[in-house]
Amino acid sequence: GRDYSNVTATNDSNDSDRLLGGLLATGFDEATCLSRYQSSLYRKPSPYKPSPYLLSKLRSYETLHKRCGPGTEPYKKALTQLDQDHIDNNGECKYVVWVSFSGLGNRILSLASVFLYALLTDRVLLVDRGKDMEDLFCEPFPDMSWLLPLDFPLTSQFDGLNQDSSRCYGHMLKNHVVDNDKTLSHLYLHLVHDYGDHDKMFFCQGDQTFIGKVPWLVVKTDNYFVPSLWLIPGFDEELDKLFPQKETVFHHLGRYLFHPTNQVWGLVTRYYEAYLSNADEKIGIQVRVFDVGAGPFQHVMDQISSCTRKEKLLPEVDTVIERSRRVTIPKKHKAVLVTSLNSGYSENLKSMYWEYPTLTGEIIGVHQPSQEGYQQTEKKMHNGKALAEMYLLSMTDSLVTSAWSTFGYVAQGLGGLKPWILYKPENRTAPDPACGRAMSMEPCFHAPPFYDCKAKTGVDTAIDTQTEEQLGVQEKRFRLF
Ligand code: GDP
Repeated sequence: GRDYSNVTATNDSNDSDRLLGGLLATGFDEATCLSRYQSSLYRKPSPYKPSPYLLSKLRSYETLHKRCGPGTEPYKKALTQLDQDHIDNNGECKYVVWVSFSGLGNRILSLASVFLYALLTDRVLLVDRGKDMEDLFCEPFPDMSWLLPLDFPLTSQFDGLNQDSSRCYGHMLKNHVVDNDKTLSHLYLHLVHDYGDHDKMFFCQGDQTFIGKVPWLVVKTDNYFVPSLWLIPGFDEELDKLFPQKETVFHHLGRYLFHPTNQVWGLVTRYYEAYLSNADEKIGIQVRVFDVGAGPFQHVMDQISSCTRKEKLLPEVDTVIERSRRVTIPKKHKAVLVTSLNSGYSENLKSMYWEYPTLTGEIIGVHQPSQEGYQQTEKKMHNGKALAEMYLLSMTDSLVTSAWSTFGYVAQGLGGLKPWILYKPENRTAPDPACGRAMSMEPCFHAPPFYDCKAKTGVDTAIDTQTEEQLGVQEKRFRLF
């Protein structure tokens, strides 16, 4: 086993690992957020190195955040602009407020997207704490909070913000009330999966020029919209410089931003050390079933077995006879980490590997941290466990995920893992093939705009055939990288 206690060792190469290749700033108080500098002890060093340009951009963002953050003079000044409809002169700092919305996986992906937008537009990101953001995540920026102050004047309106809100950009466009000669004090951007063509104009360069002047942007989204930022002229060159490896955006930004609080980190480390750290190999299987009705479902079980067997992730068992007992020294101990709302899938695997020997002689341990039954977004510890499980999955060597689940995207992105995706079953039947290897570790944008900004028409590049959908090709198509 490894020694996890010596976390303050500081020779140079250790330091680079500890700071994730320079991604993390130094000087945070370690005890208030153990995960920040300890995560490197639980993972192999990432083969993907952040670009020097990204590192310098993050450091200058941190300076900006500290200068403009809650409580500072520029922040107070910017707040007074909210009292006006239109502003006369530019303030020193501009802001983008991320509204807490949707399941935890969606929130993590959308927050990373909004942060990247803040980096590209020199805005300060402020985070609506919602029910539990503060309990789940440490502060990512040095010396200044990222949390939106509780007395922020627009907070009470957040729940009601939608496509028809008077300050919704798409709504204003639709009703021809956008006046390019005046600068609004604030604007609501509706980038939720149900957004309309006018909301999608956000992804057009011309609209960015208008939006760019507004000091306060409030964004509600459940999407990983990073791929579409790449399609905006004016952002693309900067993005190329920040991320010479296109598929590493969430990998780096996720590791930079999301540090579990000590309570959640306790869930991660205790579980890891009890069930995973001594295995020769760790396999993660994330089972997310979108079918209605209580599982476990036989077709999902069949799909998991078929995928793990065909892709040689798990060995087959010898069900024929109990042969004369050869005493063999087990070659390998594989730990399987299953995450699911339902306990049935892991119980089934566990029984199989208890009742029968494997053909390879490998010893298989199956573990599932929680089985919460159903999604309980409002319960605090529920999402603490969900975050711990995403994190644990990201520490495995090979990962199997479920199609369309953002929960799995977070795990693969943080871990730098290209998962095998269990294709979405249709009509309660296991698809054949059961799974396929993802094209990259980058999360998928579920609701991309199909809009040609110049031609001002929709260009739907998707060819939706039932077969393709069944095979999960759609998911691949929406992944730009
Ligand atoms: P998605 O719906 O799969 O894209 O993922 P989200 O994370 O956005 O929403 C699903 C929510 O359901 C999570 O935030 C959890 O609260 C819960 N959930 C789903 N699968 C699991 C699981 O395997 N373990 C735990 N603890 N919670 C889960």
